[in-house]
This record gives sequence, structure tokens and C-alpha cells, in this order.
Amino acid sequence: MSTLGTEPARITHLIGGRWDGTSGRTSEVFNPASGEVTGRVDLASADLVGEVVATARTAWEGWADTSLAKRTQVLFAFRELLNARKQEIAALITAEHGKVLDDALGEVTRGLEVAEFACGIPHLLKGGFTENASTKVDVYSLRQPLGVVAVISPFNFPAMVPLWFIPIAIACGNAVVLKPSEKDPSAAVAMARLWREAGLPDGVMNVVHGDKEAVDALLTHPDVKAVSFVGSTPIARYVYETATAHGKRVQALGGAKNHMLVLPDADLDLAADAAINAGFGSAGERCMAISALVAVDTIADELIEKITDRMRKLRTGDGTRGCDMGPLVTSAHRDKVASYVEAGVDAGATLVVDGRKDEFDGGDQGFWLGPTLFDHVTPQMSIYRDEIFGPVLSVVRVKSYEEGLNLINANPYGNGTAIFTNDGGAARRFQNQVEVGMVGINVPIPVPVSYYSFGGWKDSLFGDTHAHGMDGVHFYTRGKVVTSRWLDPGHGGLNLGFPRND
Ligand code: NAD
Repeated sequence: MSTLGTEPARITHLIGGRWDGTSGRTSEVFNPASGEVTGRVDLASADLVGEVVATARTAWEGWADTSLAKRTQVLFAFRELLNARKQEIAALITAEHGKVLDDALGEVTRGLEVAEFACGIPHLLKGGFTENASTKVDVYSLRQPLGVVAVISPFNFPAMVPLWFIPIAIACGNAVVLKPSEKDPSAAVAMARLWREAGLPDGVMNVVHGDKEAVDALLTHPDVKAVSFVGSTPIARYVYETATAHGKRVQALGGAKNHMLVLPDADLDLAADAAINAGFGSAGERCMAISALVAVDTIADELIEKITDRMRKLRTGDGTRGCDMGPLVTSAHRDKVASYVEAGVDAGATLVVDGRKDEFDGGDQGFWLGPTLFDHVTPQMSIYRDEIFGPVLSVVRVKSYEEGLNLINANPYGNGTAIFTNDGGAARRFQNQVEVGMVGINVPIPVPVSYYSFGGWKDSLFGDTHAHGMDGVHFYTRGKVVTSRWLDPGHGGLNLGFPRND
């Protein structure tokens, strides 16, 4: 068995089956639970990106012509390898991202489900066929691969987000260049090794590490036909505008501010558990994290008490030690999140639980901040307006369902939301009226299963196509319709008119 870890601290690019780094620029990778530098990742130059794309372009020609039977064999082999090695990949995630091991394993498992979905590609790519659409004329549809596609992923799901895209892109017959987050690149490297072990031809799956220089090179390269991006809203908007201006198909998933609306008839214990899980899981570094708890005033005090009780029992520490919550990803991010706690206090919100004062089961230099709860937050405060991306939960009190719904719909983001209620009619109204892409009913983190598609509305997604499910298959293929007539004794004759069906 090969080694999945990147034992020498150098983390480099995979170009057509060759591990290679040439740019000279590097970036540090940390273990957030100790604060130590554990790796150094190469940052690609624009020239190197050009080399990777050229390699992928060459490999694509063979792969696009490979039968569905052979492609499926590779996908099944990848699925088996990923399943067998998921604990190791989870450990790599915890070591660089900081999330607790169990959570890291959860993200690999959700990504694995997309690989399983992609194993059904022969069925998913079936076109339509109409015999005798016109006399002796048949019409049928095909879906063909695009060529080289780029996947640019964020730090917070170093395995799951690449897996949202890559198995489907490859199954559809494309070649991939993955640009993972430079903050935690090792899970991507490990999975690239598994694709090679699964028998994928060299060059079909490439990894290029880097920052803005590498991203810009991908967004403007003429041989990159499509870009799947996930990250913060300002960069998602930039990626969408730049890559579409260069003629590419783009899906750019951005940031979020997810609300959980709790109605007076909700099961408050269930709602309190959900608020804890969705607010503080992965230290709030999830695009589907709940950061705004919208409580109808009559039950707000009781709900906050239940949440506060639960928060007292949470342990924050090194993700390998059985804690509930890990550190934040970098010290700069930790400081930014902590500055929001200060801003909330300055703006007049009530600080119910202050995570800055916690004790942490980890290194002294770790990037720590404990779960934090604010009450009486108003929509004008920065802790409500901004995506904090940390373990800070804000309670906004409202008088009614309508006020809660209006608040959610007025927010510029529209990624995920949840309603907690025992009133089926209210839940049904909410699913219909809320302007958000993914909705949970008594489910706090409604991440769609792989055969549905993942994506938000408004500033949470630029482009028309969501990730995975049938949207994924459509994104990575182009439709073609063939109208055919085979020679028949009855054919022929000149006719310059527009083709008519008869
Ligand atoms: P980010 O926007 O900083 O980085 C995302 C990717 O873009 C990385 O690969 C990074 O190297 C690259 N990048 C960063 N700055 C760039 C620039 N100026 N020009 C070009 N490329 C650049 O995001 P992040 O901090 O890694 O991830 C957290 C963000 O991602 C949060 O906002 C979160 O909500 C969002 N996210 C969204 C979803 C979703 O499905 N909508 C899922 C996961 C994460």
C-alpha cells in the first residue's frame, strides 16, 4: 500500500502522473491545534499552470474516448479505495484543518457518496431517441464532455468539496485540474494518489497548488472549458466574472449566513441540540453552519437557557482527543473571529457565553476560540451582517413567523436555512416562501444527498448550476442533438425551404 501522508513537509503538484514543484514560492501549512508549521506547499506560477493544463488537455483526448464500461471500472475502484482509506484522509484533514476526527470522517463519507453517484454514469449519460420524428427521420440526443475543467476549493472541506465535483467530471469524460486550498492541501494530494491507484490514466486528474496567481491562470487559460469554484462570496463573484468573460462555463459557490427560525410550537430540546450542532460543529467553519438563530420572542428565553446548558458541556481542543470542537484554521482567522466578539459587545449585543475565556485541550500556541453566544442581536450589527465563519452564534428575536421570514429573505445570502416547528402548514409555507437554495424542516444542516444538487441562491452562488446530482452531469457535459436520415429509395429531390416535419 502506498503512503497517503505527505511525510516530507513539502507538498507539491501532480502533473500528468509526476509529483513536481518548480515555482520557488511556497506557503506554510499549520497544525491549528499546536500552532506548528507542519508543511510547506508549493505555489504554482502561471507558467506551471499552463504546463498542467497542456498535460490535462492531452490526457483528455484519450479519456473522452474511453468506453463507459472502462470509466465505470475506474470509478468503482476509486470508491473502494476511498472507502478503505477514509480514516487516513480524515486524519490528514484534522491535522491541517483542525476539525475533530469524527467530523473529518463525516465529510469524507459525504464526498464518498458523490463517487457512488458517479458510478452510475452510464445511466446518467443516456440520451433520448425518437424514431420517425419526420418520415424516416430519427432524432437523438447525446451529452459529450467539455475538455479540461478546473476545480478550485476552499479550506473548510478539503475532501468533500473536491469530491462534489471530481468524480462526476471524470465520469463524464473530462480531465481535471484541482487547485485545493493552500491552507490544508494534503487531503487533495492523498485523493489524487487514490485516483492513480484506481487506474485512472495519468494526466486526467492533476493537482496544482497555489494562490491568486494560479487561480487567475486557470480562469483565463483558453483550454480550461469550465470552472467549479467554492469559497467566499467576493472571490466567487470575481471568479464568475473573470472566467465567464473568458468564455468559460462557471459555477461559483460563495459564502453564507444561514438562519434557523424557531417557532413557538417547536420541540425546544430538539431545536437547542440542532443549534449547538449547526452553530459550533467544525468550529462554525461550515458554509451550512447556522450563525443566526431567529427565535420568536415568546420562547427565546427558554431556548437560550437550553442552549447555554448544552454549551457548558462542550469541550474544545485537539481534534484527535475526542473533543467536541477543534481550533480555527489559522491564527489570523482566529483573531478575526475574536474581533467580531468584541464588535458584538461594542454594538450592544448581550454576550451570553464568551468563548474567549474557555480552557482548551490542546497546544498553548493553538488557534483557539470557544463556542460563543450572543442574544439581542439586531440586523444592523456586523455580527449579524457578516459571515464570521467561526463558533459565534447570534440570537435575533422576532415577534412572528412573518418577521422571521422577512429577515431571512432580506439577507443577501441564500445558502441554507432551517425551520423548527411542529406545524406542518407553517413548515410548508416556509419551504415555499423562503428565498434560500437549501431548506431544512427540523433538520439544521440540510446538505442534499449526492443524487440531489447542492447550491444556494443570491450571493451564495454565481451561475445557474448547482453541484453534483443531475446538475453536476449537465455542468460537465454539452448537449448535442442529431437528426438523421438513412438513404432509402424514397429520398431525394431539391427543396430550399425550412425543414418541415411530415
Ligand atoms: P476563499 O475565498 O478565501 O478561498 C477559496 C479558494 O480561492 C482557495 O482555493 C483560495 O486559494 C482561492 N483564493 C483566495 N483568494 C483569492 C483571490 N484573491 N483570487 C483568486 N483566488 C483566490 O475561501 P476559504 O476561506 O478557503 O473558504 C471559506 C469560504 O468558503 C466561506 O466563505 C464559506 O462560506 C465558503 N464556502 C462555501 C460553500 C458553498 O457551498 N457555498 C462551501 C464551502 C465553503
